[in-house]
Amino acid sequence: MSQAIEAAAAIPEMTAGKRIPLPTGKREPLKVSVYERMAKAGAELVPIFPYDDAGAMVPCGALMYGEPGKDHGHFFHANSVSEVTVIFGANDAMLQTGQIMALQKFHGVNSFLRDQENPEAFVLVTVTQLQSEEAGQKEAMVAKCQSCKKEMLRHEYDAGPEGAPDFDPTRFGKADDVYRQFSTMVGSHEFAAIRNSAAGRTCRNCGHVNTEFPADPWGWGRVVEQTRVANAAYHALHKTAQEEG
Ligand SMILES: [Zn+2]
Repeated sequence: MSQAIEAAAAIPEMTAGKRIPLPTGKREPLKVSVYERMAKAGAELVPIFPYDDAGAMVPCGALMYGEPGKDHGHFFHANSVSEVTVIFGANDAMLQTGQIMALQKFHGVNSFLRDQENPEAFVLVTVTQLQSEEAGQKEAMVAKCQSCKKEMLRHEYDAGPEGAPDFDPTRFGKADDVYRQFSTMVGSHEFAAIRNSAAGRTCRNCGHVNTEFPADPWGWGRVVEQTRVANAAYHALHKTAQEEG
């Protein structure tokens, strides 16, 4: 017997008990073009596949570009689960096309454009996180003071995904949602609202009143609302079908 055949024959014993389980049918394989999806996306960090349950890899798209007068602001993101960024295209940016990066558990977030007012500057990236299958998935959005640079706001939340022991179906949306809110999207939207309140803008260390965080370029509120309305529309049709049927 050749060495290759011997090696192949040995594999079943070597890998017994280590087989990748068969698909459960829960997450139907889908193919998405990130460029097509992001051309029509309404927010930054929008999941490009409909799966975010425990154990799922969740690639989220972000597309940012320069415009005269534009400012994306700056914040920090802490995540208990791993994040990997792939740069699908960039120009006049601090990220390079084709680059892949594993992110720190606590990392700064901004537009990553060298000049936010240059219409030719852009980035199109995915940030992929692996959903925890155990309790304890957490995230935090953090603001630092524009004057003293110290942490002045930390919006921390449990982000246990569906299927994890600490999943709370009413934390980010409604229990009967068919199209789930994405925890990071809701958490970011909440962060922006707190950050732009009178208390959230005032530094607890030095008293400096910070300028408002520019939430518009990120689009979080819009997609949170669209998700709420899409669920309401789904239920409206089913209710009508039952009444008419
Ligand atoms: Zn301060």
